Amino acid sequence: MAKQTILIIEDEPSIVDVLTYNLTKEGFDVVVAADGQEGLRRAQTALPDLVILDLMLPVIDGLDVCRQLRSDPKTQDIRILMLTARSEEVDEIVGFSMGADDYVTKPFKLKPLIHRVKALLRRASVDEQSRDVVSVQGIEVDRLNHVAKVDGRELQLTPTEFQLLWTLAQQPGRAFPRNELLNRCRGEDTPSFERTIDVHIRSLRQKLEHRSRVIETVRGVGYRFQSKD
Ligand code: CA
Repeated sequence: MAKQTILIIEDEPSIVDVLTYNLTKEGFDVVVAADGQEGLRRAQTALPDLVILDLMLPVIDGLDVCRQLRSDPKTQDIRILMLTARSEEVDEIVGFSMGADDYVTKPFKLKPLIHRVKALLRRASVDEQSRDVVSVQGIEVDRLNHVAKVDGRELQLTPTEFQLLWTLAQQPGRAFPRNELLNRCRGEDTPSFERTIDVHIRSLRQKLEHRSRVIETVRGVGYRFQSKD
């Protein structure tokens, strides 16, 4: 298998060094950019499997970089792990307007960060279901072509939102604990940050608009897709 490529967009040399060293040791090809503009350029040319993206960047900030990556068909499916300095920015970051797949708060511990990187990458290659299209309650999810529609209108979902919708819609009526949803979205054996799921669900509901109620909250457990009757 070809080496997977990770693009690090970060302006602090010490962080770049430690990430480059350790990700290379883990067998990844590492590409580096020190500001947002260069980062976007690198993303276009290297087409990495994953971007580690700092929030506070010179020239173009991390949120703009994230938006631009998501709005370009060439780069929209690249996994994005955001590095943030403050945890209160999390809502915005993993929310629908930005579309990062996950985040790590600085200062971070190396091991959990590498774990997140691997989980995000594994998620892209997991192929556990045999069906490719689910159509229920006016919502259609075509996993093969990565297209989700509500009443025929195509939705712009982040990879995480897509995976959540796919998971829930396959088994209407079944309550999924947050932990399980987290694992389905990230791969197995990932430390749980249940709040992340809530943020993705909120964003997904907003995008579903008048169909938002198909995703029900199961108090004390997690979420389920409304059953058909
Ligand atoms: Ca920075």
